[in-house]
Amino acid sequence: MQTRLADWIRDTPAGVEADAILRKCVHCGFCLATCPTYLLLGDELDSPRGRIYLMKQMLEGAPVTRRTQLHLDRCLTCRACETTCPSGVEYGKLVDIGRNVIEEKVERKRGDRLRRWFLKTTLPHRPFPGTLGVAMPEPGEHSIVPPSRFGGNMDIKHLRTGVKLFLPVGVEGALFSLGDTHAAQGDGEVCGTAIETAMDVILRLTVRRDFTIDAPQYHLPAGAEMEDAQASFHVCTGVGPDLMECSRDAVRATIAHLGDRYGLERQEAYAVASVAADLRIHEVVDAPNWVVGAFIPEAIFEGGR
Ligand code: SF4
Ligand code: SF4
Repeated sequence: MQTRLADWIRDTPAGVEADAILRKCVHCGFCLATCPTYLLLGDELDSPRGRIYLMKQMLEGAPVTRRTQLHLDRCLTCRACETTCPSGVEYGKLVDIGRNVIEEKVERKRGDRLRRWFLKTTLPHRPFPGTLGVAMPEPGEHSIVPPSRFGGNMDIKHLRTGVKLFLPVGVEGALFSLGDTHAAQGDGEVCGTAIETAMDVILRLTVRRDFTIDAPQYHLPAGAEMEDAQASFHVCTGVGPDLMECSRDAVRATIAHLGDRYGLERQEAYAVASVAADLRIHEVVDAPNWVVGAFIPEAIFEGGR
């Protein structure tokens, strides 16, 4: 689309970036179908295309109000719209710029400021990378959105400091990568976004040839799951497009793990899983694949904590 940004922003770094992004948008509306706020509210101004228009008007100098701010506030910054945009519009960068500008232009009411401050200070910050994975063996390009049995965008909030993650290796050299760093997120990441943030991550990579797994597993040291619960857990995951199948895969992997690690017969391990393992949904938003984890507490075995 054509743009004519206002003098006060045109030649700033933010203005140059916003202008380039706005010009890529052809207003086709393909992004609307993937926007959760548009699907929920049905208002064009709560869609990516509508918000792009609002930001364009604001950056061109049109007056903005609390109403404009509300439509930008409602955006979840999930960036699902970017995945369907044929023009490569970097909506996430644009909305960051738009929000910074509108904070300068529209003063929030005291109650709103207090509510935002309260949420910011009371939400527990438990940082972790949402994406940790190795390359899949299937040839070709792969979307970075859905996780796979080789990891990827698993959004497992428990993969934090001190946790060991085990991934199957699909290609020579594994080609490990990580990203999508989150400051806080609940199990399931139900609306499609966490508190997205920049992060430095330090990790140690080791190649293990002494066992094989079909899907990611991880080990939570004592105290990592809940600071007040001094138990450690081994977690087997199931990854795929059906939650029931994911649950079955996680339980099957748990049975295999209990056999390998503790020498349990399959039927014994199945019974132990039934009485002691907790199934948890790690994520249900990175279509088409979901992730279920089966948590087995190690304290129930001799020598475990
Ligand atoms: S952001 Fe992309 S998909 Fe959405 S209206 Fe603009 S060009 Fe179309
Ligand atoms: S980032 Fe998410 S909520 Fe915001 S406009 Fe895009 S799809 Fe909609």
